[in-house]
Amino acid sequence: MEWNDLFLTMAFVLAQKSKDESTKCGAIIVDKHNRIVSGGFNGAVRGTNDALVPQTRPEKYLFNLHAEENAIIFAKQDLEGAKCVVTNKCCHKCLSRLIQTGVKKIIYPKINKAKMIDKIQEEAIEFTLSQHPEVVVEELDLDGVEKILKLTSNSIQELKELDVAKSVVEIAEQDKINKR
Ligand SMILES: [Zn+2]
Repeated sequence: MEWNDLFLTMAFVLAQKSKDESTKCGAIIVDKHNRIVSGGFNGAVRGTNDALVPQTRPEKYLFNLHAEENAIIFAKQDLEGAKCVVTNKCCHKCLSRLIQTGVKKIIYPKINKAKMIDKIQEEAIEFTLSQHPEVVVEELDLDGVEKILKLTSNSIQELKELDVAKSVVEIAEQDKINKR
């Protein structure tokens, strides 16, 4: 199992917590040792009554923080050399913020058309990346994510089917036998 597939899967799971009806994004930031440093999903500022936040475009853009922004804000450590794995192609603002905080690698799924990225954004992203050759952007196919989600689902199923109490007793009995 590749680390990046794992982090992208986690980002997708995190995205489910978003209250945005049309776009659910998740981001995971890890350090250079693949240790998770932070995570975030898109949504309005904390304490906001989400039911009152506009769900229409472009009004909702004013209220929602992006997944990457929240992940940056919640990080409790320096992000120099970190990696951000996100469920959608970064917008130019988030890309800039990630670069500004020292993130050196950005990973998102290989998709034909990213949400919210128009031609102006595309050009700005291209320009900013050309100014920062030290920043690596990688597109990941989603097969690994699907595989991990299937494995996860299997593990949960196994756990549900397991008679935990009985197993613990069995293990204790086996220990007694082993000690004799
Ligand atoms: Zn963004």
